[in-house]
Amino acid sequence: WNLALELDSATEAPRGLLMTTHTAVLVTGASRGFGRALAMQMAARWPQKLTIVLAASSSEGLQETATLLVNARVKTGVKNLEESMAVSVAAVDMRDLPAVEAWAQTAMDVLQAGKPSRVILVNNAGTVGDLGTVAELRDWQSVQKNLDLNVTSCMSLTAEFTRRFGAPRSDRAAAKELPRPEAFVINVSSLAALEPFQTWGNYCVTKAAREMFHRVLAQEQAHCDTFHVLNYAPGPMDTDMQAQIRNSHGVFQPLREAGMQAFDEGNLVTPLESAEMLLRLIDDHEFTSGAHFDYFDGLPEDEEDDGDEAEEKKHPDIVEQSR
Ligand code: NAP
Repeated sequence: WNLALELDSATEAPRGLLMTTHTAVLVTGASRGFGRALAMQMAARWPQKLTIVLAASSSEGLQETATLLVNARVKTGVKNLEESMAVSVAAVDMRDLPAVEAWAQTAMDVLQAGKPSRVILVNNAGTVGDLGTVAELRDWQSVQKNLDLNVTSCMSLTAEFTRRFGAPRSDRAAAKELPRPEAFVINVSSLAALEPFQTWGNYCVTKAAREMFHRVLAQEQAHCDTFHVLNYAPGPMDTDMQAQIRNSHGVFQPLREAGMQAFDEGNLVTPLESAEMLLRLIDDHEFTSGAHFDYFDGLPEDEEDDGDEAEEKKHPDIVEQSR
């Protein structure tokens, strides 16, 4: 699908945005899928100064995203493109923990450099990993690598981000001592963080672990009024990850068929739609830090309560299995 064609022109600035003069953001998994769509929406809808760091393992995919960002920005009619947006790309294999740790320092330096008024870390990179029943799992090196990518590298980046932008002690007065930018840690979560799905053991474990880690972080930083954590489940989106699930014979058959049906009937959420919802949440920041928010929770009542159809989009596996 062509992201560039689907992107609308920027709409009216939301409430929180009016206060923000410079946003610095790091998006992992930005070479395709949701990460790319999110970065594009930021370029299109956040007209104030934007510093954006895109990370993934494929430099080619990252370069394509960077080009799409420039195009999206130009479409907004911005005059001084170079002053208005700085894009940098980092090709990092997030299964390589020492490499992630070393790069995290550099990445945070880039975020901090222009003294932004808002900093955002989006922990988006991920893999569905090895699909199959628990009894079929044998390749523990692969399982470990998936854990390194989906959980440990994300913990490492988040720890460095928190050291830079969080408040060190659980003391509200101390937390107010230094002027700090508004900081957001967004965990791109999933329904699989909350509910078991047969043959997704590997994936469910990593999403649940990641969600809990961000909940702990929210509690640890509760004394810091400028630090916000959100677990955002983006909905079943039309990306490579969904294609992998549809095309895998290791997947529990009802789940696979539900995925195929959602794809065939055009019921998957587009990454751009979901990205737009997340941007609204960040701008309005009316969520409780550490909360889990699902894409479907943010739809207008009439769409959300659209009977069986909405329920089927939200829980395709459950609806399928209950038939
Ligand atoms: P995707 O299209 O498969 O994209 C995954 C991203 O992660 C890519 O940019 C990929 O880049 C990056 N990545 C994979 N392996 C990497 C590695 N070793 N090092 C660095 N980056 C790596 O998946 P998506 O659907 O956009 O998923 C994005 C997030 O949404 C994930 O956290 C996923 O769990 C979550 N999610 C997706 C769905 C859905 O229906 N699609 C539903 C709920 C939650 P490279 O290949 O270039 O490295």
